[in-house]
Amino acid sequence: MNVDETFDLVILGGGCAGLSLAYRLAQHEQPPRTLIIDPRDEYTNDRTWCGWPVTAHPFQKDVRARWHGLTLHTEHTSTTVESRRYPYEMLEAERFYTRTLEAIDAHPRLTSHQGRAVEVEDRDDGISITLESGETFQARFGVDTRPHPKPLVAPWLWQDFAGINVQAAEIPQGAELMDFRVGDDPHDGIDFLYVLPYAPDQALFEWTRFGRPPTDPTTLEHALEAHLDVRFGVGQWQALRRETGTLPMAPPTRTNGRSMVAAGAYGGAMRAATGYAFHAIQRWADDCASALIKGQPPVGAHPGRILPHLDRIFMSTLERHPERAPEFYQLLFEKAPTDSLIRFLSGVPTLQDTLHVMNALPWAPLIKSTVHHALSSRT
Ligand SMILES: Cc1cc2nc3c(=O)[nH]c(=O)nc-3n(C[C@H](O)[C@H](O)[C@H](O)COP(=O)(O)OP(=O)(O)OC[C@H]3O[C@@H](n4cnc5c(N)ncnc54)[C@H](O)[C@@H]3O)c2cc1C
Repeated sequence: MNVDETFDLVILGGGCAGLSLAYRLAQHEQPPRTLIIDPRDEYTNDRTWCGWPVTAHPFQKDVRARWHGLTLHTEHTSTTVESRRYPYEMLEAERFYTRTLEAIDAHPRLTSHQGRAVEVEDRDDGISITLESGETFQARFGVDTRPHPKPLVAPWLWQDFAGINVQAAEIPQGAELMDFRVGDDPHDGIDFLYVLPYAPDQALFEWTRFGRPPTDPTTLEHALEAHLDVRFGVGQWQALRRETGTLPMAPPTRTNGRSMVAAGAYGGAMRAATGYAFHAIQRWADDCASALIKGQPPVGAHPGRILPHLDRIFMSTLERHPERAPEFYQLLFEKAPTDSLIRFLSGVPTLQDTLHVMNALPWAPLIKSTVHHALSSRT
């Protein structure tokens, strides 16, 4: 590639958000001339994306499994909710990478380039990118999806997790969204197990912790292995694949610039109260591609106006009462209409959905957190 080549659009980061946008552009004959920059030298099956397809997305045929029912366990009770309309779905990154990268490779106006952006000049009239290799590129507009982790302060928490795709003879066949019957002291972190069976003898088991400071996911991996040893017997289960993650349950750390917009998990697509980002990224990619195809500038992801405030109040409540987390989630499962809860967790609730969800929770701790939030935002 020629150094100093000029593009209409540069996408920094060819991960979920960058490739989702490029894939949509690849469906058109004359999209903006686009360069996608990512340092990866290979794409592996590095993550499993799950969530509710509240809005349609183009990767539906790549979904590995779907569940209409989801169970939540606490020490005291188990609650199963069912949704015919919004099955919970699981998509492996490998299939997504293959589909998107093939579409990009086949399109003459889309180019992917291996490299790490180290300098970005964002002006009113365009973008200049310098890579670690010294190469430079110019573009009229940019989309920045690079991770941008920052230390977290109260009430925000880290979501750390370790997952293992397990093969064993007796895999439970119901999907379990949150099983709080694991973990020790909730003040060290709110622990739960997540179990998604996708074959008679296989399931994804994930040990998740909400806490601050972050926990090394290796610690959680060891906890999960010990749990699997007790559950199936030592030597009676096999690890087919592993994944770990550390996600900030916090507001976006990247913001839009002059000619560069922020997108992806660190740019407004990740829901602070849940850590879900995949489906919000898909909605953003639809909006952004449609603006670009009309010849308009790219649009950034936006988390909405009301939800970030509600997330702050909920996270503040969790932080102050970690021992009550199982009770809060159980009340949500039991009292809120399931489809309302799903739209709320997915970031696209109606006003009525939001009221249903708020009504399901005990008022006293939420009001205290709201007052606390109002007072702290004044200082
Ligand atoms: C293991 C795991 C499981 C997850 N599971 C779920 C789930 O079930 N449901 C859900 O909704 N969300 C999930 N998430 C959260 C979120 O959906 C993912 O993190 C998603 O990949 C975020 O997309 P992204 O494009 O913002 O970031 P990424 O997909 O991480 O892409 C960012 C890209 O930027 C590139 N990059 C980094 N530095 C540079 C640089 N200097 N120059 C150029 N490129 C750079 C990286 O190589 C990477 O490819 C999960 C996350 C992880 C880690």
